[in-house]
Amino acid sequence: MTPVASLAPATVAEVVDRAARPDFDRWAGQVAGCGHCARPVRLRGRVIEHPDGGPRRVTYSTDAEPDRVLLIRCGNRRASVCPSCSFEYAGDMWQLLYAGAAGGRKGVPESIRSHPLVFATLTAPGFGAVHTTRLDRVGGSARCRPPRGAPRLCQHGRPTWCTSVHGEGDPRLGEPICADCYDYPAHVAFNWHAPELWRRFTITLRRELARTAGLTATEFTHACRVSFVKVAEFQRRGVVHFHALVRLDAPGDEFAPTVLPLDVHDLADAVKRAAEHVRLTTDMPDGSGVVLRFGQQIDTQTINGGPAELTAEHAARYIAKYATKSAEDFGVGDRRLTPAALPALGLSAHVQRLINTGWVLGGCASFEGVRRWVHMLGFRGHFASKSRRYSTTLGAIRGERRAYRQQQAAELARELGADEPDDSTLVVGNWTFAGLGYLTSGDAALAASAAARAREQRQAARDATCQPHQRGSFTQ
Ligand SMILES: [Zn+2]
Ligand SMILES: [Zn+2]
Ligand SMILES: [Zn+2]
Repeated sequence: MTPVASLAPATVAEVVDRAARPDFDRWAGQVAGCGHCARPVRLRGRVIEHPDGGPRRVTYSTDAEPDRVLLIRCGNRRASVCPSCSFEYAGDMWQLLYAGAAGGRKGVPESIRSHPLVFATLTAPGFGAVHTTRLDRVGGSARCRPPRGAPRLCQHGRPTWCTSVHGEGDPRLGEPICADCYDYPAHVAFNWHAPELWRRFTITLRRELARTAGLTATEFTHACRVSFVKVAEFQRRGVVHFHALVRLDAPGDEFAPTVLPLDVHDLADAVKRAAEHVRLTTDMPDGSGVVLRFGQQIDTQTINGGPAELTAEHAARYIAKYATKSAEDFGVGDRRLTPAALPALGLSAHVQRLINTGWVLGGCASFEGVRRWVHMLGFRGHFASKSRRYSTTLGAIRGERRAYRQQQAAELARELGADEPDDSTLVVGNWTFAGLGYLTSGDAALAASAAARAREQRQAARDATCQPHQRGSFTQ
């Protein structure tokens, strides 16, 4: 909670003014009702009922509300824009992921736990040595890149080694040891073509599985469906990698098990082979071709359908955490950029060079359109995506919550003696946009402190069902 002492005097006056109003409880109820959103949409309007043959009547009007507005959540998934809506998005994502991994909810049967399910991380290859954190054999912090054999300078006369032990917040982490040795065009090419590389991976994976089962691709498609959900994450060096849950089902909408004798280890092996084999060649402006592929660091962990290395809860939680991350982590923001705007943004030399490289590549036919995505360092894909029948959809989860809230509101209205419209009554809403965000910084401060308390409570509830999981680190 923001201590009142740290607020500006004018803000404190606004807080006191709000709290002293007779409709304060209703205002606080609205703030809670929009999920403690940091910058809610303010709506003005009425709900009008037209009973069959009866007179029209206004059953709700914002005229009776505090400030004559209704607050609606902004729904932004970026934590820097709205911590509350981003938290809710991560929660919805978890529900979606968990339903597909463990079943027993959201229309997915519990028997889904018997289906082969693998948690896979597909990284990018190296484009040049970067500063990194390492662990020594006993788990302590090791030096970044100690020289191997006699220390050697690169062709630019710079050291090829680094003997520092970098702390977690060290700004050098992810930066190249020599920026002139670093392959910036290949790095941007990887981000730009990563969605296509992933698509080819899913095709190759089906082929690998068909081969394991001794079937043709068509025979395999009739007997087995590969369902997945994937999340893209930016590594510190500014390249995307993918975390994915990959599951084998029977075709159809029943979430039935496949009849093929493929187990979770067959699936994990096929994921590894497919990720190793998949390639994409792209034309570069200088006429050369760059062959893009995933990195050597392919990690698969088995979840369901055999001895599990990882629980469904942990996998769902681990992957949901990344769903709210984005290029924002680099301080680039979510808006389109031109190189002219770069100096004012205070970005690292590495990120600036990635953006400039993207801009230059944008002049080449195989990179047409990349200039619109330089703020994402060339990545144009979705941060979270899934195959059609992985589990439920975010839209369905939101619909359920809306229905639940409407039911609560209807119950409250009945308790207060309001009569419910029957089926023959036409209900019409008439709304206009009155603005965005809170009216005063005092209101915003009150909402933010209530939001922090609410998130703490909900986080404690989430933690009670699932402890954080740690294995493997892919942060470079
Ligand atoms: Zn919001
Ligand atoms: Zn270093
Ligand atoms: Zn060099």
